[in-house]
Amino acid sequence: MKYPIVRPVLPQNSGYFSRLEQVFERRWLTNNGPMHQELEEKLADYLGVKHLMLVANGTLALQVAYQALNLGEKVLTTPFSFAATASSLAWQHHQCQFVDIDKHSLNIDPMAITPAQWQQYDGVVATHVFGNPCAVETLEQHAEQSRTKVIYDAAHAFGCRYKGRSLLEYGDASTLSLHATKIFHTVEGGAIVFKREQDLLTAKQMINFGFDDKQFPQFAGINSKMSEVHAAMGLSLLEQIDEIQQQRMGSVALYQQQLASVVELQAWASHSENNGAYMPVILRSEAELLHVMAFMTEQGVQTRRYFYPSLSQVPCYGMQGETPIANDISLRILCLPLYHGLQREDVLSICDALKAALASFEQVKGRAK
Ligand SMILES: *Cc1c(COP(=O)(O)O)cnc(C)c1O
Repeated sequence: MKYPIVRPVLPQNSGYFSRLEQVFERRWLTNNGPMHQELEEKLADYLGVKHLMLVANGTLALQVAYQALNLGEKVLTTPFSFAATASSLAWQHHQCQFVDIDKHSLNIDPMAITPAQWQQYDGVVATHVFGNPCAVETLEQHAEQSRTKVIYDAAHAFGCRYKGRSLLEYGDASTLSLHATKIFHTVEGGAIVFKREQDLLTAKQMINFGFDDKQFPQFAGINSKMSEVHAAMGLSLLEQIDEIQQQRMGSVALYQQQLASVVELQAWASHSENNGAYMPVILRSEAELLHVMAFMTEQGVQTRRYFYPSLSQVPCYGMQGETPIANDISLRILCLPLYHGLQREDVLSICDALKAALASFEQVKGRAK
């Protein structure tokens, strides 16, 4: 495929290998080693957050956050997210009540949560979809009044700022995925940002089997530690992060300029800037989407249905809640290639392929009449 949907970014120079040599020399391969500590500190600094911890992946970040916050059984969540958002809840026996999304922002719609639900549910797990900030103020105002916990799946929101500060500072906790396909990664990895230091300390103990400082398990924990080898990748990529992010933001800006009058685009929150995580386009119907996908594949452009299906229509997640908007959007949304190294000409060719695909669909439709 000429243009894959994603292409993991790799460190530019040999810095990664010299870091690996240091790890080998020390033979300290995991368990809060020096690379891990350095990455934790530098990442918190780069993102502008206080209580950040690294974990083994973004799904465990969610699960550990739920446990550390002692999240109750009944949880409100979004149907428009990656499977991990709902599966992490279901895995820990939370009941998911799906709340519909706003059709412009694609984020959970706070207005779709009734006053009774705010009272009855213990928490809200919301995704900043494609990095676009949720209605954080409205959500948290209701949450405060009803003592509902708020956890953001911020897997797409690396480097996102809202009203001049890190988006990750909102909610009781926000989680990141540092998976190979994300803007910034450690091959596999994740992070949690807590509002309160106490929750961070609990979670740090939790990811190391619940051991206290005498290696006594105070509570049932889990292993969700990041290794030195993974942290070394993070440290190497962090040296290039400004360039990586700028380039991706540039690609998104160009895509938007080319496609604004061609397809429907996600509406971004004010007081925030698109962080260049994804390039979704909303088509008019699923038939159009399927045609476009097939057409673009033939032209060497890989696209991906993301997110599909709507999580409220997946039996193993309980299918609780009416979410017509999410169900409709998930049938006709498509992500275009976006990765570090994608050139201006590449974006223009992909846009041309999309325009040709749309024109071809119109022809096919015309013939069918
Ligand atoms: C990638 C992703 C996750 C899961 O992260 P992993 O590191 O792959 O476990 C969770 N939620 C969303 C929205 C994601 O995109």
